[in-house]
Amino acid sequence: MNNLYFLIISFIYISLVMIIYFKKERIDTRENKLFSKLLIISFIGIILDFCSVYMAFNNSHGIIFRIINQLYLVYLLTWISLITIYSITISSKKGHDNKLVSIIRGIYTPAAFFMFLYPLSYTVKGNEFYTHGLSASIMYILSTIYVVIMLILLLKDLKNIRQKKYTPILFYIFIGTTITLIQAAHPSILIITSMECFVTILMYFTIENPDMKLINELNIAKNQAEKANQAKSEFLSSMSHEIRTPLNAIVGFSQALLEENLPESAKEEVKDIVMASDSLLEIVNGILDISKIEANKIEIINSKYEFREIFDNLVVLTKGRMGDKPLDFRMTYDDSIPAILYGDYTRVKQIILNILTNSVKYTKEGFIDFRVTSLIKDDICRLIISVEDSGIGIKQENIPKLFSKFERLDLDKNATIEGTGLGLAITKKLVELMHGTIVVQCVYGKGSKFTISIDQGIISKEKDVVEKKEEKVLPKQIDLSSTRILIVDDNKINLKVATRLLESYNAQIECAESGFECLDFIKNGQSYNLILMDDMMPKMSGVETLKKLKELEGFNTKVIALTANAIAGMREKYLSDGFDDYLAKPIDKEELSKLMIKYLTS
Ligand code: ADP
Repeated sequence: MNNLYFLIISFIYISLVMIIYFKKERIDTRENKLFSKLLIISFIGIILDFCSVYMAFNNSHGIIFRIINQLYLVYLLTWISLITIYSITISSKKGHDNKLVSIIRGIYTPAAFFMFLYPLSYTVKGNEFYTHGLSASIMYILSTIYVVIMLILLLKDLKNIRQKKYTPILFYIFIGTTITLIQAAHPSILIITSMECFVTILMYFTIENPDMKLINELNIAKNQAEKANQAKSEFLSSMSHEIRTPLNAIVGFSQALLEENLPESAKEEVKDIVMASDSLLEIVNGILDISKIEANKIEIINSKYEFREIFDNLVVLTKGRMGDKPLDFRMTYDDSIPAILYGDYTRVKQIILNILTNSVKYTKEGFIDFRVTSLIKDDICRLIISVEDSGIGIKQENIPKLFSKFERLDLDKNATIEGTGLGLAITKKLVELMHGTIVVQCVYGKGSKFTISIDQGIISKEKDVVEKKEEKVLPKQIDLSSTRILIVDDNKINLKVATRLLESYNAQIECAESGFECLDFIKNGQSYNLILMDDMMPKMSGVETLKKLKELEGFNTKVIALTANAIAGMREKYLSDGFDDYLAKPIDKEELSKLMIKYLTS
């Protein structure tokens, strides 16, 4: 009767665990699925064992009794097979495609059929009852093999043995095996089912069973944080876009004023306005860049480029920024760098210019050493770019903060140096987008060295394939008096700025305040030599207007996108939208002149 008490207690426990486990929302991992099967099988095992023991002692040894005992053997086989598969799953990283699992599954079906069909022998002696025969022996042999497999797997993964998911396996191997051996020696002690049930219950506390409610709450919180971050990025991006419009007026009008015959003092002030608006534009671009990067909206757009052209231009720009600082700018290029590379040169330029500009900003005197070397493997060229300066250096404890946005270091020393603390944050993100690295070495008070490594494709190693472009010197006076230009923009100030800048070429200028007006002009037979078109206009965007223009019969006027949508990659976007060229707002007078020469003088 003692056997029955064990079973009743096991039945109560397993039922409770089943209720708790199946009521709770859970993730269907492989481990969880196996555990669910083990729970159900343990429950069935207890019922079968209970019926078998009860019937044995009530001398009802008929056909049902036989079926129950055969089924009980199948239960034992199922349980040991499942726990062995579980142990394979937790000890191997790719448990699901483990051959051992397939072998165990392969053995299971024929063995289960055999155990169910092959008759068992029974021994009932007074209070003692047990089964034996070929099926039972097969059961004992298979159990031993499976326990050995579990033991080997455990020894192979010994370093992880402390993980709690191994506890039920350990318990089964040592206590369970002892119990099985006792039962094999004294078949009348029926404690295997209760022991297996205990192992299953133990597993409930050790398997990874994350709280789904908590996970759902965390997911909601994560989504909210993502939304808030996106809203912030969108706000920053639209804000910097909006700032460009008034900035366009400041830059445009001050550039136009510079061409007037102003008194010398006024000219100096206008120059200061141009410089101040240039730095404001740089800040706006930085904010726009960082918000686009954070919203994952920046793409790396690769195309072929001439290495020397890009890098020489960087040198010119840096020297321009040095002004009259007593700095020795040294530059060395490795001869082996291929002439034509493939990569996102706009971003490469932005990265290096940030580092070079910083070295100018944070070095009072001494040198800046700009070095580019390369490592070539197959058709990939690893550019290793280093910029070393003899500037103020960076304190060791500040290095971890260096690449965080809006982080400016050593402010007591740097208070007079202009900056937003965005440059290096953008630089690092861009380098990472290109799968490159950036490292910094510095000695506080002596100088810093930034080293960037990025992989670029190789188009041609030969220097002579490079088409020699003639450096066009812009003529001082461009005369467009016989040309008609249409400017399309919904913003009156923008129209005024563009008109003012174009007037200096003596062109005949007309303005349209919307895409509809532009279409009307063309439909009414007006013809122009060039159209400058804004994109972000209400009701009909520039892109839509262009599409409609192109549908008009005989329309073949060149159309240039003139837009404040000025982050890198926009040129390519507008060209693919069908525009002939692209000009960013605030309008740069030099860029404008280049376009006028390209499209209107030939
Ligand atoms: P900022 O707009 O302030 O220059 P950055 O992100 O480019 O922003 O740089 C962050 C900070 O790192 C700077 O404020 C400066 O303190 C420090 N820093 C960057 N480059 C150098 C350098 N070459 N030498 C010394 N300090 C530097």
